[in-house]
Amino acid sequence: MKYISTRGGMAPAPYSAILLEGLATDGGLVVPETVPAVSADEIESWRSLTYPELATEILSRYATDIPRDDLARMCQAAYSAENFQAEEIVPVTPLEPGLSVVGLSEGPTLAFKDMAMQFLGQSLEYVLARSDRALNIVGATSGDTGSAAEYALRGKEGIAVFMLSPQGRMSDFQRAQMYSLTDDNIHNIAIAGVFDDCQNLVKALSGDLEFKRAHDLGTVNSINLGRISAQMVYYFWAWLRMTDDVAADARADFEVSFTVPSGNFGNILSGHLAKNMGLPIRRLVLAANENNVLDEFFRTGLYAPRPAAKTHATSSPSMDISKASNLERFIFDLVGRDPERLAAAWRELDATGRIDFSSEQPRFESEFGFQSGTSTHADRVATIRSVFEASGTLIDPHTADGVKVAREHLEDGVPMLVLETAKPEKFPEIVFEATGERIGLPDHLSDLLDLPQHVTEMDDDERELRDFIAARATRR
Ligand SMILES: *Cc1c(COP(=O)(O)O)cnc(C)c1O
Repeated sequence: MKYISTRGGMAPAPYSAILLEGLATDGGLVVPETVPAVSADEIESWRSLTYPELATEILSRYATDIPRDDLARMCQAAYSAENFQAEEIVPVTPLEPGLSVVGLSEGPTLAFKDMAMQFLGQSLEYVLARSDRALNIVGATSGDTGSAAEYALRGKEGIAVFMLSPQGRMSDFQRAQMYSLTDDNIHNIAIAGVFDDCQNLVKALSGDLEFKRAHDLGTVNSINLGRISAQMVYYFWAWLRMTDDVAADARADFEVSFTVPSGNFGNILSGHLAKNMGLPIRRLVLAANENNVLDEFFRTGLYAPRPAAKTHATSSPSMDISKASNLERFIFDLVGRDPERLAAAWRELDATGRIDFSSEQPRFESEFGFQSGTSTHADRVATIRSVFEASGTLIDPHTADGVKVAREHLEDGVPMLVLETAKPEKFPEIVFEATGERIGLPDHLSDLLDLPQHVTEMDDDERELRDFIAARATRR
């Protein structure tokens, strides 16, 4: 399996090479040359596998240049009992009639990004050791990517992490989680700006090939294809668990739908790829918060990213994104995987600030199964409350955005699975507002908020960031 750029200007590269990269060398995004198809019989043969075994099956379709035994060992290490609190790694739990929750937040940072990042930590260390290389991760986070990356990469040989976060836009818990780490290879940088400013700084640095090479820069934000590939696993896992009780002869084409709380379009893109591989997914419902640039796109076909200044700070902060980097990968499929058409569309986007796919919009649902909806602060509060009153379960505000939008897209006879993207313990204020419940931190994290914090504050200044990284980059 080789990987190419959506814009057609990169020589095909193997998995272990693209694992270390962010953008493709031509500024596009890396995609598999062809999406590997799996048959219904193959999927059925995976029913009795554990989560790390299933991960090995699916990732071996993508990481074809890593020996299978090594891949199996890395999947076992990533999805271990030490890292994840639930025995099954990803519990699938009924919430209300027709609607279940896929538990993706059992990892060390209590959010779904651990699912991809724990695997990426293993595979990066492996690939770097094999090629005697160093890697300096430069990432942007609106909360959960950063902590998940730092917890997956802390103390790893040959790796350092430079994590940019927007000043004052994360929860106390998110800040404490990241800034309390004391590992020498972890560097937290708080930028005076919003998430998109952080992401633009990362893009500027990774776009400067000379600087990138001189300091072995890489990225693990949500455009990293290693992450996208690891995220496919739980779509398969959730489908298998939902069909465990379906009669054997009715399983093969038994469709389920997923609702995915979305920001950068990474999580739901993995669902899109899983569907392309052959998993019977009926609908992929995108849930947005007030920063609903993607809901607008799926409803109208018009993609008009908004400037950083128009990004609202909401109570589901990990979705406060107005420019969805991964969307380019979906558009690539939409234009028939034609790099010329894709590159032309992105030239138009750069020149005019928008692309109009309204003539193609009916295909979003009919051909690809996409639907979408928006949830507001009031919706989140009402949803957290109604779920708590009905079942005694507390959910986090991002998952609440998902449940709100999922309820609007239920279909008879089609199970709806909402991807849980974080634990409610990370967002106690809104949980209190909605339910009156004071939720504390889990026992093993109870002293986190009191630990000393280590962070460098910086203006939105590319020069200053370059100097900081050049002085602290790790080398081999
Ligand atoms: C990252 C994140 C999201 C958004 O996921 P994308 O892959 O960027 O669409 C949603 N909720 C939480 C809690 C997150 O951390």
